[in-house]
Amino acid sequence: MSQPVQERYEDSNLYRIRHSAAHIMAQAVLEMFPDGKITIGPPIENGFYYDFDLPRNLTPEDLEQIEKRMRQIIAGKYEFSKKAVSAEEARKIFKDQPYKIELIDGLEKGGLDEYGNPLNAKPEISIYQHDSFIDLCRGPHVENTRQIKPDAFKLMSIAGAYWRGDEHNKMLQRIYGTAWESAQQLKDYLWQLEEAKKRDHRKLGKELEIFFFDDEVGPGLPLWPPNGGVMIEELEKLAKEMEDKAGYLRVRTPHLTKEDLFIRSGHLPYYAESMYPPMELEGVKYYVKPMNCPMHHKIFGSKPRSYRDLPLRLAEYGTVYRYEKSGELFGLMRVRSLQMNDAHMYVSEELFEQEFLNVVDLYLKYFKLFGIEKYVMRLSLHSREGLGKKYVDNERLWLKTEDMVRSAMKNGNVPFVEAQDEAAFYGPKVDVQIWSVIGKEFSLATNQVDFAQPARFDLKFINKQGVEEVPLCIHRAPLSTHERMIGFLIEHYAGNFPVWLSPEQVRVIPITDDQNEYAQGIVQQLREEGIRVSADISAQRMNAKIRAAQIMKVPYMLVVGENEMKAGRVSLRVRDGSQQNNIMLEEFRARVKEKIAMRSSEL
Ligand SMILES: [Zn+2]
Ligand SMILES: [Zn+2]
Repeated sequence: MSQPVQERYEDSNLYRIRHSAAHIMAQAVLEMFPDGKITIGPPIENGFYYDFDLPRNLTPEDLEQIEKRMRQIIAGKYEFSKKAVSAEEARKIFKDQPYKIELIDGLEKGGLDEYGNPLNAKPEISIYQHDSFIDLCRGPHVENTRQIKPDAFKLMSIAGAYWRGDEHNKMLQRIYGTAWESAQQLKDYLWQLEEAKKRDHRKLGKELEIFFFDDEVGPGLPLWPPNGGVMIEELEKLAKEMEDKAGYLRVRTPHLTKEDLFIRSGHLPYYAESMYPPMELEGVKYYVKPMNCPMHHKIFGSKPRSYRDLPLRLAEYGTVYRYEKSGELFGLMRVRSLQMNDAHMYVSEELFEQEFLNVVDLYLKYFKLFGIEKYVMRLSLHSREGLGKKYVDNERLWLKTEDMVRSAMKNGNVPFVEAQDEAAFYGPKVDVQIWSVIGKEFSLATNQVDFAQPARFDLKFINKQGVEEVPLCIHRAPLSTHERMIGFLIEHYAGNFPVWLSPEQVRVIPITDDQNEYAQGIVQQLREEGIRVSADISAQRMNAKIRAAQIMKVPYMLVVGENEMKAGRVSLRVRDGSQQNNIMLEEFRARVKEKIAMRSSEL
C-alpha cells in the first residue's frame, strides 16, 4: 500500500502540460501585443500563470481571443525544443525583453533561477522554443503543442501582480489558467471550484451561526455562538470516549507560563516570532502558550516513573495561541487561537511501534466516522545538511526513529509517502492530508515523534533492568484543532451535518398558534431525552417556518396542526426531503436517539 516516494509535481505530466500551456499563452499574448513585455510564467497548483507588462489593461474578451489563438497554436503541433545558450547569446535573443535581461543577469551571477527564485547551484542558461515563441526556461515541457488538449485548458482570471512580488516595482498583469490531461478532468475541476464556493466555511459558518470574527476581539480569534459551542462539545465528547477507551488520562494546564518553560523546551528564542509578545509582571516575563507539550512534560516529570507506567498518555483539549501575520489569516484554517485535540504519549523504544500504530488506528476510526475516503500520511524526514541547524544534531536518533515510524506504518499497512527534509526540529513527523467529499484537500494536524524534548526536560523512567532511560514522546492530534476540524466539517458536509453533530437536531413547527402549547410539550419531552430541539412559535406562516428550518439545515422538522394535536401525533419532514405523516412521537424519538447514539451519517 505504501509508495516510498511521492512523484514530485515537477516530474509529473501535468506539470509539463501546464508549463507548456503557459508558453503557448505567452505566445498568443505577444502576438496580440507585439510591444508587450513578458516576465515569468510558472506552473502552479492546478494550473499556471504568466505575468505581462502590456500597453493596456486586459479584458475578459481578450481572454477569449487568447484562448482561441492558443487552440490554433496547439493544432499546429509545434515541437518544444531546448537549447543551452551563453548569457551573451541569451541577451541577444531577449534584447527587447528587459525583464528577461534582468533574469539572465541573475542566472549569470548564480543563486537565482529563471523565475528569480533562490537557487543553490549556478544554473545552466537554456531557452525553449516552440513555433515563433522563445522563453528563458529550463523546462521540462511536453514534446509538442498537440499534447495539450484543446478542450482541457481554460484561462481563468486576470489579476495585478508586482514584478518580483515587490510593491516598489511596476504592477504587471497576470493571467491565470488551468490545464489538465483530459476534458473530463477540467470539467471535474471547474465543478469542484463551483461547489467549493458554495461550501466555503467562511460563508456557511456565518450563515449557520457556527462562528464569526469581531473587530473588537481581534483578527484570527473566532467567537463561537451556541451552534458552534454545540459542535465543539460534541467533538470533545467523541474524543474523550475514544481516548478513554484507548487508555488516555486527562490533564489540565494553564494558558500562561513563565518564559523559562519555553527556554527549556527550546522554543525560545527560535519560535518567538510565532508567539505573542511577553507580558511582564514582578520582573518576570510570561507568555501565552503556543503549545501544550512543555506543560505535559512537566506533568510526566512531576514524580518518579517506571516502565510499568508506560505508555503514559496525557490528553488535553488545550487552547494555544500562535501569532500569524494578518495577511495569512484565513477563516478557521489559519487562526491565532487554537483549541487542540492534544495528547502526548511517553513510551520506551520497545513500546513505540505498537503505540504509534494505535495512534494511526485512531485517525482511521475518525476518517471512517466522518466518511473521509481519501487521505494520505506523509512521513517527513530530516536531511543530513540540516543537522544542527534545522534539526537536532543527532543523526543516530534521526535514522533510528525514522526507521521506527517507517516500519510501524509498513507493518500496519498504512498508506504513506515520504518527504525529505521536512521534519520537525525534534524528530520525524507524519502530516495527515485528507480530502473532502468534493475532492478539496485539507491538512490536518501532524503526528510527531520527539526524541529531543524529553531529554531537555530531564524526563526519565526506570526500565526493566532498573536503569534510568529517557522516554520517547509521540505528539498527536487526530481531530486537529476545533478551528480546523470544524472548518473542514462545514465544507465536507456542506453544513448538512449528521444528526449527532447538528447544533439543532429537531425543530417543531406548529401550523397555527393553537398548537403552540402542544409543540412546547413535544419540545419538553424530547429535551428530557437529551435531544437538541426547539419550537418555532413565531408569527410566521408554516411555509416560512419550514423555509427557516431548511436554511439552518435542521435534520428533522415535526409539523403539528390540529389533526396531529387531536391524535397526539406528529408529521415528520426530514432534511433529505422524505416525509412521514401522522406518526407517534415515540416512533420518531426512537429513530433520532438511535441515529445519535450510533453517530450515524444517515438521517
Ligand atoms: Zn518555461
Ligand atoms: Zn506536543
